[in-house]
Amino acid sequence: MLQIYMPLNFLGVIYREIKQNLTDLDKMFTLMDKQQEVQDAPGATALTGLDAPAVRFENVHFAYEAERPILHGISLEIPAGKTVAVVGPSGAGKSTLSRLLYRFYDIQQGRITIAGQDIRAVTQQSLRRAIGIVPQDTVLFNDSIAFNIAYGKPNASQEDIEAAARAARIHDFIAAQPKGYATTVGERGLKLSGGEKQRVAIARTLLKNPPILIFDEATSALDSANERAIQAELHQAAAGKTTLVIAHRLSTVVDAHEIIVLDGGRIVERGSHAQLLAQGGRYASMWALQQQSGAATASP
Ligand code: ATP
Repeated sequence: MLQIYMPLNFLGVIYREIKQNLTDLDKMFTLMDKQQEVQDAPGATALTGLDAPAVRFENVHFAYEAERPILHGISLEIPAGKTVAVVGPSGAGKSTLSRLLYRFYDIQQGRITIAGQDIRAVTQQSLRRAIGIVPQDTVLFNDSIAFNIAYGKPNASQEDIEAAARAARIHDFIAAQPKGYATTVGERGLKLSGGEKQRVAIARTLLKNPPILIFDEATSALDSANERAIQAELHQAAAGKTTLVIAHRLSTVVDAHEIIVLDGGRIVERGSHAQLLAQGGRYASMWALQQQSGAATASP
């Protein structure tokens, strides 16, 4: 009994870990044959209008556990092809917004729409195809680096994989390995640094080429040269895509169409970088603090 129970329990732990870190779950669900918490509505249809989809949160209320509300009436819009950044202290609910857009959980009140369609009314498969995620901490499969990049677009050619790796600036690193793209990575293979894992995630996302992107910035600081390089690659990947950035460093958000300051599950300030600086409120003091310390942190 113990022998049967243990692996399932282990998978459960991995499942929660992955869900928390916003990784594509389809393969994991198949492996586990687990009943998903979120179900397709009867008659759910595929998401459409994906050429230029705007994303809207309308008066969204959400609690993981009924007795502890996390989001209290969040309304925001990411216009088609624009970037909206969310900043705020740890625990404010920033990553929760991205988990809700991917529909890992259903909200208790309000609506989340993509191109005008309530995400509860469309198939999860079409929803998740439309969204690319660069998570805080990328989970790598114990498989070749080519497999890990192509995951999300399994029929990708070697040329496509290499082009994505070049754009994410990880190609040279891969090519320098004795087995190149056949190198096994993950827990039982080559261990990658945080920055290298993020680059794999960027390459994966570039290859998938979805119209909507979620970047959940790593909290653990990369060295600043690496960080700046990754920012540049993310910026390139986000061009023309509807993008939600969960930012821990203010340097990421300066160019955003709108910056949302979240605290305790409420929007306490919103506007462009210039508007928020002029306002002299929370964002302005976070910015001043960052300038002083030189540590570009968006989580005071
Ligand atoms: P950070 O900057 O530290 O990543 P955040 O603003 O992204 O923080 P969230 O991860 O959205 O914060 O968490 C918001 C609140 O929800 C926190 O109080 C957290 O403890 C709680 N929370 C997060 N995930 C779960 C979960 N799976 N079950 C219950 N509560 C959760």
